[in-house]
Amino acid sequence: MSTLALTGGRVLRPDLTVDRADVLVDQETGEIGAIGPDLGDDADTVLDATDALVTPGFVNGHCHVAMTLLRGYADDKPLDAWLSEDIWPAEAELTPEAIEAGAELGLLEMVRAGITGFADMYFEMDRVADAVDRAGVRARLGHGVISVGKDHEDAREDAETGLEFARAFDGAADGRVRTAFMPHSLTTVSEAIYEEFVPKARDAGVPIHLHANETNDEVTPIVEEHGVRPLEYARELGLLEPGDFLAHGVHVDETEISLLAETGAGVIHCPASNMKLASGMAPVQALLDAGVTVGLGTDGAASNNDLSLLDEARDAAMIGKLAADDAAAVAAADVVEMATAGSAEAIGLPAGRLETGAPADLAVIDLSGPHLTPHHDLVSHLAYAAAASDVRHTVCDGRVLMRDRDVRTLDADRVRERAAAEAAALVERAES
Ligand SMILES: [Zn+2]
Repeated sequence: MSTLALTGGRVLRPDLTVDRADVLVDQETGEIGAIGPDLGDDADTVLDATDALVTPGFVNGHCHVAMTLLRGYADDKPLDAWLSEDIWPAEAELTPEAIEAGAELGLLEMVRAGITGFADMYFEMDRVADAVDRAGVRARLGHGVISVGKDHEDAREDAETGLEFARAFDGAADGRVRTAFMPHSLTTVSEAIYEEFVPKARDAGVPIHLHANETNDEVTPIVEEHGVRPLEYARELGLLEPGDFLAHGVHVDETEISLLAETGAGVIHCPASNMKLASGMAPVQALLDAGVTVGLGTDGAASNNDLSLLDEARDAAMIGKLAADDAAAVAAADVVEMATAGSAEAIGLPAGRLETGAPADLAVIDLSGPHLTPHHDLVSHLAYAAAASDVRHTVCDGRVLMRDRDVRTLDADRVRERAAAEAAALVERAES
């Protein structure tokens, strides 16, 4: 049995208390073998956690990882114009090679930020799955199905692509890759496609992930056309089963919040993207009070513009207080829970808690920075003061992905150079 020990630090427990303890990992099973004092003596590999906090790996519940290529390409525009004038024309020029390069860049960034699992909706997902395999993290992946701008046969073909990917790649990368059927949203995918493919996704045994209730512009047409709120329409289409999860949930009313709580479908809150695109403020405290499973996501890098769950946690707390008009709302513990166990539960990955027998997916946060001194409350630090650059080590499935800020699974220089070249070529094609 080969073992890994994280020694000399403090550990964030599932109840969000912190105590001094070592963590011993069985690298063959990828699980945590023990948490307690003096576990490092006989370990094969030791990671120093002195003056640091061992936390569950962060889980990015909603992303389009290859959009790192469009980071900083178009900013400061409303969602509709941003998509139609900048993002969609550029995405039309994406090649499989570009998507793989963008995915690797995003994965490099996420491993450095202590993210050990994520959900991703995009195109050429076999390339993304390969990059996930190399990077060593876990993921819930799906092809983004869109029917607007296509005739019905082309839309069916796109949905078939999504279904085939979900069937073929579920369990890939030694089980670290899981899949979902991912229709883009309720307004960009036709009713006929939902009617045909939701039952097929159920037969395939995969969950469904979509964008929902992101902007008011998306809610109004559904209410006008179908006479019900978007999530009532989603329920009629057979969506919102346990295991399903939606991104955003910004403009949800009380009926829809109850519907989410009743059905067990999760919500991935993406506060930075919602603020940047001025989409609105999700009623996060109301969702939590209703018992809805809420996770956190960065969304794509073009609307964030980074892939840090620590930034997202701070944003979630800040905007959650504003939305509730209550400084006690969306507290530090709430956002730390959302960034770890909440996201993991919503997207269905076995992660988010440090306890014996759990998968060894974890991050070690260096607490020595002046911005993390003194140490009154480390949960407060995670929510309000820590940054991605404070992450010292990242471990997933018992494997060391980053040691002393050096990513072991990806060649950082090569990944950055390749992504920069692909991004420059992409923009040139889009603008020529
Ligand atoms: Zn999105």
